[in-house]
Amino acid sequence: MPTVLITGANRGLGLEFCRQYAGKDWDVIACCRNPAQAGELSVLRQHHNKIQVEALDVAHFDQIDTLSKKLSGLGIDILINNAGVYDDNRNNSFGQLDYQTWSHSLLINTQAPMKMAEAFLPQLKRGSKKLVVNISSLMGSLADNNSGGSIMYRSSKAALNAAMLSLSIDLKGQGIGVLIFHPGWVQTDMGGANALIDSKTSVSGMCEVIEQFTSAQSGAFVKYDGKTMPW
Ligand code: NAP
Repeated sequence: MPTVLITGANRGLGLEFCRQYAGKDWDVIACCRNPAQAGELSVLRQHHNKIQVEALDVAHFDQIDTLSKKLSGLGIDILINNAGVYDDNRNNSFGQLDYQTWSHSLLINTQAPMKMAEAFLPQLKRGSKKLVVNISSLMGSLADNNSGGSIMYRSSKAALNAAMLSLSIDLKGQGIGVLIFHPGWVQTDMGGANALIDSKTSVSGMCEVIEQFTSAQSGAFVKYDGKTMPW
């Protein structure tokens, strides 16, 4: 069975990715910061013994390297860079920006996904699907930004898009694909209760797009339903 590695797997979209891939009988490597407090993931694991939970705070690149070493013999079909933060708030906007917090947004949303791709390249090469999936956002779209604000989040996701488009070109010769998703506005802790869709709808859409993926699509920025997003 194929293998998927998911970051931020304890709640929200990451947990739903675990649920859906485990439901298809895939081997799931579910990474989260604090497995002891990942209650819903533990319950899911009781029903799916092919879920392997690994502690990983993506802010700590030494942890990423250590996990890659631990999993060095493995093939990974799909790496899903899902972990993300929304650090903007009313007290942290233009005029009173906290630049350390902005650096944190860039670390988690932009740099960590690239570090994951670097660290797990050997495992991806050994997998069959050979795909790096990134959960970006419509808010990373420059063309769509008509309302301003969210300077940290927008810039970190726009930078993720730019970096992953480059990676798709750089890895083409090695047969590794890259996909960039807008998951929709989803009912999670980040999206809030008023969001338009639930995580099941978002993730089942993205899984479908992933299943249909061909190398010609590498570097594409698409919505959860497969529609092309404006850069
Ligand atoms: P969420 O419910 O807030 O979950 C965020 C996940 O990221 C949690 O598992 C969290 O773990 C993890 N995370 C944060 N910092 C981490 C770190 N340093 N190391 C490891 N994991 C870390 O958000 P979500 O809605 O599921 O978001 C998933 C992805 O979708 C994010 O990249 C987000 O930007 C993107 N997105 C979401 C929406 C939406 O409407 N929901 C829209 C566009 C894009 P902890 O529990 O340990 O904090």
